[in-house]
Amino acid sequence: MPPVVDDPLFFLDYDGTLAPIVDDPDAAVPHPDVPGLLRTLDAQYPVWIVTGRDLHALASFLDQPLRAIGLHGAQRGIIGGDVEQFMSEEAAQALDRLHTSVPAMDGIEIEQKGQSFAVHYRGVDRVSEAEARLERWLDDLPDVLDVIWGKKVVELRPSGLTKGTAVQRVVGQHPARTPVYLGDDTTDEDAFAVLQDLDREVVTVRVREEDTCADYRLAGPEEVVTYLRRYVPS
Ligand SMILES: [Mg+2]
Repeated sequence: MPPVVDDPLFFLDYDGTLAPIVDDPDAAVPHPDVPGLLRTLDAQYPVWIVTGRDLHALASFLDQPLRAIGLHGAQRGIIGGDVEQFMSEEAAQALDRLHTSVPAMDGIEIEQKGQSFAVHYRGVDRVSEAEARLERWLDDLPDVLDVIWGKKVVELRPSGLTKGTAVQRVVGQHPARTPVYLGDDTTDEDAFAVLQDLDREVVTVRVREEDTCADYRLAGPEEVVTYLRRYVPS
């Protein structure tokens, strides 16, 4: 188990960390103990949810006005409340241009995520052909955008905005607290690296995955809940 620190500043990823991984991302409900636990923690400590999801969409799973970082670092705000977007005009225009030029293929699905978007191709017949066409489409990608390839999905987002840059901004506002970051995604590694570069105590925890630069590991949401409970006086 990771250590319990005195003055934590929590950063908690959602999918895979607070909510078990499910096949249908629209059905990713939190672990049953999570809503109550978050309410208790949030009353005592600063708590930030960190997610790749659009924060407006996250509100349907987590119906609490918690502070949150969304779209892998491109959004910041309150779940179910005000959300600010960090994006240059140049990146917004490039995204618009690519959005209108997605290769037309049967089975392709475009998911709008705030101002960025993802192209899902799990529904196409010939996956490698679809990947080749998508790669060609992204051949001349401008520097202002990043591409993230996932499981039969490719996502475009503004570059230079990561969970790491977003977390850094928040950490700077809490100089006396110990950041405690729990996440299960590759994109959480950016945040682990940023935190470990700070000249202060930090607790970095990778959930599920062994290959990580985090200092500690937990097996899944069940263990996450067990660990977070240790911050709640009994
Ligand atoms: Mg996750």
